[in-house]
Amino acid sequence: MSVAHESLAALQTVDTEIASLKRTAKQLPEEAQAAKRSAEAAEREAEQARTLARDAQRFVDQRNLDLQTTETAIKRLEAQSLQLKTPTDFETMQRQIVQKREEASALETKILEGMDMVDRARAAIPDKEAHARTLATKAAAAAERAKTEVEKGVERLRVLAREWAERSAQVPADLLPRYVLLRDRHGGQAVATIAPDGMCQGCFMLVTRARATQALAGEAVACNNCERYLIVA
Ligand SMILES: [Zn+2]
Repeated sequence: MSVAHESLAALQTVDTEIASLKRTAKQLPEEAQAAKRSAEAAEREAEQARTLARDAQRFVDQRNLDLQTTETAIKRLEAQSLQLKTPTDFETMQRQIVQKREEASALETKILEGMDMVDRARAAIPDKEAHARTLATKAAAAAERAKTEVEKGVERLRVLAREWAERSAQVPADLLPRYVLLRDRHGGQAVATIAPDGMCQGCFMLVTRARATQALAGEAVACNNCERYLIVA
């Protein structure tokens, strides 16, 4: 490898790592945020399940109170019916009692349905709570990992900044400004290898024959398509 190619490759190694660290520094906190949002959503679902169970229980409690009231009314009507003098009054009262008993029966049906709802709503809670706990644990781990990795990344970037300064000093001065421009344009990749057949491994297009010949001979030329500096692998 020529000196120019070697210096470009060496600098690219540093920039590749810098770009990777910067991506990680951006991605991990985003992932941690996404994990946090999922955990919060799961917790809301668990809370909804608990609310549903409470509401169903409240419905049952209320219908039980209604049933007690109705049964008390039936007893009162039955007691009153014994005091009545005429058969007509008695029949009227009996009809009222029958109607109240039908109301009581309807309430009992509703209570049974309500208890079924309570059972089903309660049965759904443990899974949802377990899911919420699992996601909360994952979110906490993701947050911790993001924090640790970002801190490590900051440390490493300091070291790499020094290495970059040293290695960039080895790159021919006329190549460096373009290198920096291309690096920033191509997400940290200013250099691509050229295959013996003349294909740029950065954009996977064939480089013009003239440029390929120059690049393969060790000259510092750029791909005519993606404009990355071409180096021999
Ligand atoms: Zn290219």
